[in-house]
Amino acid sequence: MVGYPKQTLPPFSTRTLAGESGMVSDRVRNRMIQEQLVNRGIQDQQVLKAMREIPRHQFVSEALAELAYQESNLPIGEGQTLSLPYTVARMTEALTLTGEEEVLEIGTGSGYQTAVLSRLCRRVYTIERHASLGDAARRRLRTMGYHNVVYRVGDGSMGWPDPRKFDRILVTAGAPVTPESLANQLAEGGFLVVPEGSMTTQSLVRWHRGAGGMVREILGTCRFVPLVGAEGWREGRS
Ligand code: SAH
Repeated sequence: MVGYPKQTLPPFSTRTLAGESGMVSDRVRNRMIQEQLVNRGIQDQQVLKAMREIPRHQFVSEALAELAYQESNLPIGEGQTLSLPYTVARMTEALTLTGEEEVLEIGTGSGYQTAVLSRLCRRVYTIERHASLGDAARRRLRTMGYHNVVYRVGDGSMGWPDPRKFDRILVTAGAPVTPESLANQLAEGGFLVVPEGSMTTQSLVRWHRGAGGMVREILGTCRFVPLVGAEGWREGRS
């Protein structure tokens, strides 16, 4: 495996769980890793390391910080949610990152998944439909020292606005079918992970663009908020 890039991150901000010491949030985070990820089959050591180190509670409001390491979807504003730790880990693992990739993420949300990706690839391009969320995530990630992320506010169901290809694409909202524009932006040899199905339940689908074309694989079931846009669900139904 190619080595992960060595990023020099400044120390994370010191906000801890309900004013307790950083050691407490370390312990709570380690328990999350063991009980929710390792015990359920997440094996990618780099994914586990990133999620062990990233302070998930800093991606939600202070009122919810105590819940950040539990097995719950957390509200992040605009009716959107931060996915379960297991879901974030499973999707990231499915991308099989080596540290060299340019990754397109649709649905920045709180920026937590963006932070995980940022540590495991060369550069993340992320799009969020709600300006309030996208702007807050950008400020948060910049303060935390993530500098290999490019941000946009807009409809990610149509892909990145500039014509270009990505080694990996991750959609963190549920689509009725895989948007064609996203499939078209997947580079040869690349993987596209996308929840596909109804507004309430989806299959987690992984596409691989091989020499002979696109191959589709179903990884499991999942529940995401809807991908709202021209190649997703119609506006007004989210
Ligand atoms: N990955 C996020 C959570 C995702 S929730 C995190 O770690 O916090 C899904 C996000 O996708 C929401 O913020 C929602 O506003 C956004 N979204 C939905 N449709 C979108 C679209 N067409 N383009 C960009 N973002 C979209």
